[in-house]
Amino acid sequence: MTVLTETALTETVLIENVHIAPVAGPEIESGYIRIEGDRIAALGAGPAPGDVAGDIAGDMAGDMVGDAAGYAAGTRIDGTGCLATPGLVNTHHHLYQWATQGFAQEATLFEWLVALYPVWAAMDAEVVSGAATAGLGWLALSGCTTSSDHHYLFPKGRGDLFAAEVEAARRIGIRFHPARGSMDRGESKGGLPPDVVVEELDDILAATAEAVDAYHDPSFSSMLRVAVAPCSPFSCSGELMTESAALARAKGVRLHTHVAETLDEDEHCLEQFGMRPVDYMEKLGWLGPDVWFAHAVHLDDADIGKLAATGTGSAHCPSSNGRLGAGIARVSEMLRRGANVGLGVDGSASSELTPLAGEMRQALLFQRARYGPQALTARQALELATLGGARNLGRQSELGTLEPGKLADIALWRVDGPFTAAVADPVCALVFGPQPPLARVLVGGRTVVADGELRSVAQDEAGRAGAEAHRRLMGLVRSRAD
Ligand SMILES: [Zn+2]
Repeated sequence: MTVLTETALTETVLIENVHIAPVAGPEIESGYIRIEGDRIAALGAGPAPGDVAGDIAGDMAGDMVGDAAGYAAGTRIDGTGCLATPGLVNTHHHLYQWATQGFAQEATLFEWLVALYPVWAAMDAEVVSGAATAGLGWLALSGCTTSSDHHYLFPKGRGDLFAAEVEAARRIGIRFHPARGSMDRGESKGGLPPDVVVEELDDILAATAEAVDAYHDPSFSSMLRVAVAPCSPFSCSGELMTESAALARAKGVRLHTHVAETLDEDEHCLEQFGMRPVDYMEKLGWLGPDVWFAHAVHLDDADIGKLAATGTGSAHCPSSNGRLGAGIARVSEMLRRGANVGLGVDGSASSELTPLAGEMRQALLFQRARYGPQALTARQALELATLGGARNLGRQSELGTLEPGKLADIALWRVDGPFTAAVADPVCALVFGPQPPLARVLVGGRTVVADGELRSVAQDEAGRAGAEAHRRLMGLVRSRAD
């Protein structure tokens, strides 16, 4: 297999004979998508207008899938038997947790955190690099073209953890929205985490500003945008939350944190702050169109109204919520009332090996289990995973739908397999069933996955990097215990 080490800009890519679910606008049963540079130039039904032999220079062989040599100016992709959707957008993750999967399997969130904080305290930049490489490669293999990450533990003297994940994302080749997270409220200050994993407020603000200045790219085609993300109400001081919001707004970047994940958190907030999580966030200036929360499971009607009225988004992480027994978010009610919802896989330690495509199915089944079969349609679930995610990240102008002028981030799902082909509706096959194979994943017109395999980095290498990160971290934990 050829591995693409160079990602030269493709001049023109034409995807033909493909079922298109653009998320915005009507579906097209058999049509084309024309990509110029990193953007969608046109799409429509039937063959591409004005397209004649020679219009597209280069290889005219129909199916380029699996042929990395075809990744050059003038690529044609025969999409026969494929469903084209916008690339999926992951809006909540903790990539470092790839190294700590399978722990505390029967624990609640707070029990799970208390078990894992001391393990995470031993991580270094090499662990983060390996975990992020595997985690982002895994996401690309489930049709993800943009991912956020919420990294909130920075043990002292362990190397540049933020730079390590940025570099991993550059290699994998998907768009990256790392959030510089933080915690300053350790046990001695009434918080949940041990003091050894928290930082001082001034250090946090300086490091966060530095991360934004070093990496944030606000451009339309941006491959990397930084957000500011103190971890949660039960691990951060009110001052850290308000100072972080002021910093993010001064820099023009987005805000992210965990809110209303469990009933334990409700109780903690009532006890410590005299109010429930969303009210506390409101008091701290943390509601607004530049904010998205992770989870937002335990909301009352007034909370949902506040999110909708302020344009505050939420990342729904159904597998993680199920794994930790946290509850089922009121997604269909939130959508009905106009609150934006995207999807997230959450950290791998609370949703082992979760593919982002599978979260569409989880979201659909959870909502239907709670509210009945009309609670969420296949197309609404697809919208959560694409446009809803793009909105959470403030990128709805560039990402989340297939439309001329938007970035060419596209997943091509093979829905003509001998078993899958029996399902009448390709979008139903994608959402109701297990993930179909991926013919291609394009990010800005560049191939990241072809014929079901990662092509930016050798797939085996990416997987092994994650396993090695796990072994290394376990070794570091043992050596600290000695
Ligand atoms: Zn999380």
